[in-house]
Amino acid sequence: MERSNRKSDPRPSKHFSLDTVGEGVRAAIAANEGAAVSNVALIDLGGQIIVFDTFMTPQAASDLRQTSLDRFGWTPGLVINSHYHNDHIWGNQVFAGDAPIISSARTAELIASAGREEFDWYSENSSSQLESLLAEYKTLSDQQERSQMTFWIAYYEGLVEALPDLRVIMPEVLFEGRLEFHGDRRNAELLVFEDAHTGSDAVLYLPDDQFIFMSDLLFVGCHPYLADGDPLQLHSALKHIAELDATRYVPGHGPVGTRDDLMLMIEYVERCLELASEMPAGEHAQKEWIAALGVPEPFQDWQYPQFFQSNMQFLCQSANGQKEDNTSDR
Ligand SMILES: [Zn+2]
Repeated sequence: MERSNRKSDPRPSKHFSLDTVGEGVRAAIAANEGAAVSNVALIDLGGQIIVFDTFMTPQAASDLRQTSLDRFGWTPGLVINSHYHNDHIWGNQVFAGDAPIISSARTAELIASAGREEFDWYSENSSSQLESLLAEYKTLSDQQERSQMTFWIAYYEGLVEALPDLRVIMPEVLFEGRLEFHGDRRNAELLVFEDAHTGSDAVLYLPDDQFIFMSDLLFVGCHPYLADGDPLQLHSALKHIAELDATRYVPGHGPVGTRDDLMLMIEYVERCLELASEMPAGEHAQKEWIAALGVPEPFQDWQYPQFFQSNMQFLCQSANGQKEDNTSDR
């Protein structure tokens, strides 16, 4: 760990802004046009700083490390990886050596398997993806489409810059179910939910402060990504989390939310499942039906509406698969 005198800067990085969730607790909210992509958090346990997730790139994570030094006087002494997705853990290398990296055993397995495939895909395709996005951007006139495209251009620019030196650092401290941290200043509980957003997703609960760091079990003001998990399990995880005593909920994407945002996310999953139960039979009819589906109220203003279509496609495919399974069981 490194120590320095404290400094405060309202906008410490082009990759993120800082939200003071509470005394000694900061959420770093990803900027739309940066290489952070997901939200992360710095939590002062009292003499030890936890960093919950590490962004998508080392360049954003380096700014976070510096922010920890400036705000708290210390660099993080513990690193948590909530789940295996690249946008939450590819900043690991900035902290490795200084601090142990902690994840659930299942998340570590997924980093080594599906995460490896993700790394290979991005290594091969990021430059060409960036080129085609830049070409497409020139053809867009709609302001909302341009703004969304700007996000994806920054995403791939960040990867093209990072990938030549990027190393996927594996977590070395593995746990199952639940892990507690006790500090002079506060306590924290790491809780794992299986097959919700991915095969394994950890949330960090600060019971004394009533804050929860949800990672991708919560999206605020933008459509979630449902296609790598099980929406029914996600629904039950969210219901479980709603039982915990909390007032502020830090999502994986979007601004810091309240209990209303958690309830909206539950409603979103319920609405998607309900819609999927009304889908017509036959692949072709389903495709046309999904293409014609509008985003339902009250989610029409949410960002990244294209995720709604892909979520519905995923739910229809899952339902088709279940029907086939049932038929073959007979
Ligand atoms: Zn994710």
